[in-house]
Parts: sequence; structure tokens; C-alpha cells
Amino acid sequence: MLIVHKYGGTSVGNLERIESVALRVSKAKKAGDDIVVVVSAMSGETNKLIAYAKHFSDTPSRREMDMLLSSGERVTAALLAIALQEMGVDAVAMTGRQAGIKTDNAHTYARIESIDPTRMQGEIAKGKVVIVAGFQGINQEGSVTTLGRGGSDLSAVAIAGSLNADACEIYSDVDGIYTTDPRIEPKAKKMDFISYDEMLELASLGAKVLQSRSVELAKKLKVKMIAKSSFSDAEGTIIGEEDKNMEAVLVSGIALDRDQARVSLREVSDRPGIAAEIFTILAEEQINVDMIIQNASSDGLTNLGFTVPQSELPRAKGIIEAFDHDIGGKDFDADICKVSIVGVGMKSHSGVAATAFSALAKENINIEMISTSEIKVSMIIAEKYAELAVRTLHNVYELDV
Ligand code: ADP
Ligand code: ASP
Ligand code: MG
Repeated sequence: MLIVHKYGGTSVGNLERIESVALRVSKAKKAGDDIVVVVSAMSGETNKLIAYAKHFSDTPSRREMDMLLSSGERVTAALLAIALQEMGVDAVAMTGRQAGIKTDNAHTYARIESIDPTRMQGEIAKGKVVIVAGFQGINQEGSVTTLGRGGSDLSAVAIAGSLNADACEIYSDVDGIYTTDPRIEPKAKKMDFISYDEMLELASLGAKVLQSRSVELAKKLKVKMIAKSSFSDAEGTIIGEEDKNMEAVLVSGIALDRDQARVSLREVSDRPGIAAEIFTILAEEQINVDMIIQNASSDGLTNLGFTVPQSELPRAKGIIEAFDHDIGGKDFDADICKVSIVGVGMKSHSGVAATAFSALAKENINIEMISTSEIKVSMIIAEKYAELAVRTLHNVYELDV
């Protein structure tokens, strides 16, 4: 079997951790499998490098940021190779480029366009463990690119796809996917299995345990993902195609996204084209607008609210403040968060959302915005209620039993 292992920041957070990853890889190799390892930077490393760049500039060149940030994963890849060689395991470390990963030109959030696995395959055929620096590739002109935060998960899935691997095991400090973040709700339960679609929703709605783009790609390439812990030998959670014979659970998990901020526009002229105008200028500045809510108008005026990632609020604020017509008042609020319930069973059941609203009401938590899709309900609430809301919803859908 050919297995891709991916080790995240905490799993390689210090030299002892790298040693223990080397032992795990060595054991898997000796058991007879071919192993390709994708590594993240040591925990905190990427943030440290970002802070270094900010020392010199508030708006560092994105190309140079990629030069800088890609170095973190190279350090881990090389150290792991050295540790393995010392244990008598033949191993070779590669950059994204050496592993054949080609991306588009979008520095700091590049998309993988293709992978030429020839070189990796050659090394595997020689019996070596291939270790690839995650989170990076090169663009057409040969410059290093990175894949967005958490992007080593994406590297791992893409490599597993290109090598036709039997599984892509993602190792972190939790032993699988839980019904909600176990750091917030200790009663959260580990799942044996979760469908790609549910995992994709949980990840995009804030459960950082897997990067959402990696789950999307795994679904597309039919890569079997397994979330496991590098701190234990527990079974883990399989992420795969939904089994139609399985009884769909109503709600499978709760996600929390603290990286949210809201812009509220009051007394907006209710005329054709106004929304287009506002959201076009935001899109032109690459600001990701998430939820949008517009009230029924009265006297030709309406209220319009929307959310953006908190990190983008300063830029969104600048743009909206410069918008000097058709808006009566503007408010900006960073103290909000988004809590979401996710489950494929919602497709065929009614009343799921109502249960959530009543449960939050009982705790006196005001819901400020709502958005729904076939398999999720998201609610914007005040940030101070984040953890209480997660625990309340976890409880009302009986996810802990
Ligand atoms: P790594 O650094 O290895 O990439 P992450 O920190 O990205 O690991 O992901 C692991 C963390 O994800 C856990 O420590 C846990 O707190 C958090 N997490 C959030 N939601 C969930 C969930 N539903 N199930 C498991 N872990 C979750
Ligand atoms: N080191 C990168 C980050 O912190 C990528 C990753 O760990 O997946 O975002
Ligand atoms: Mg991660």
C-alpha cells in the first residue's frame, strides 16, 4: 500500500516531536507500506515569519512573502529526513518544486494546477521515504508560491491524488473529527466516519481541523482522508463518500468561526444597482463577503448588513467609508462570531433550524443574522456568547449521547 502521512505544526512543534514522527514513519515503512510524508512548519513558525515581515512593511510584497513563508516547511522536511536517516531509514526531503507541484500565479493563496509525480515515484521505487515540504509549489515563471493558511493539508491530498495513494492520513493533536471542537466542548464525541460534504461544511464554517480546500479536492479526486493523532495510536476518523444506506444523522456537528466581522449600512437608497455598486468595489479589492442581509424598505430606504473576515475589516471599512453617497449611516463590529450546525439529515427534515433558534433564545443569546443551505444553518451572534452557543447547540441536538 502507498500511504501519504501529513504532520501539522503541533506534531512537528519541536525536535522531540520530530523524533517521534520519525519513529512513527519508520514503523509504518518497516510494516511494508510505501510512505510519502508531507510536513507543516513547526508550530508558530509561519506566524513568526509573518511578524518578521510586518516589522518592515504593513503591505509586504506577496511574492517575497511566499519566499519567506515557504522556508518554514523546508526546515521541517529536512530535519525529518535527517532524523529518519539516523534511524537507518532511507529518506529524501523535497521542496514543493522538486515534488513537481505547479500552481497558478496567486501568491500567498495559489491554487495547485498540476503535479508531475515522476521524481517522487522514482524515489519511492528506490525504497525511500519521500518527505515533501507542504504548503508550496512554483508558478509558471518558477517563483515559489504558497497555498494559503493551513495549506499543507491541500499539498497532502493533491500528492495522494497524483500518486494514487491508498489513503491520506492527516495527523494533528486530536485523534479525529469530533462533533464540535473538543477544546470548547469536552463532551464532544469522536466520529468514526464523516462524509466529504459534511466535513467540507464544518471546515469552511470554522472547524480548522482540516483545511476546507483539501476536503474539496479529496472529494473531487476520491482520496480517502483519515484524521488521526500523532500523539496516540487511536483509530481516527475516515472522511469519505456518503454511504446512501446509512441512516443520515440529523445534525452531525457544530462549527465556530471567530474570524468574522460585520458591516451595517443604514438608510441605504433602495434603488436598482445599489447592491451591485457596493459589492463590486469590495470584490475588486478581493474582500470576501460572506452573509448578506437586507431589510424590506420603507420610504425608499433600507438597511443592509454583511459579514467579512475579521482580518479584512480594516480594508472593508476604508472602502465603505470612502463610499460617499446613498448611505445614511455606517457601523462596523468586530465582536461577532458565526456558529453553525451541519448535517446531511437536514435535507429531509424540517424544524432543525427552529430547534437551534429556541435553544439560543433560552440562553438569551440574540441571533443577529441567519443563513441556511441544504445541510447547514449558520447564525451570527455576539462573540462573548461563542462558547455558550456551541455548548448549547451541542446539547440540544444530543451530540454527546
Ligand atoms: P495542525 O496544526 O496539525 O494542522 P490544527 O490546529 O489545524 O492542527 O487542527 C487541530 C485542532 O482543530 C484541534 O486541536 C482542535 O482544537 C481543532 N478542532 C476544531 N474543530 C474540531 C473538530 N470538529 N474536531 C476535532 N478538532 C477540531
Ligand atoms: N505553515 C502553514 C500555516 O501555518 C501551512 C500549514 O501548516 O498547513 O498556515
Ligand atoms: Mg491544520
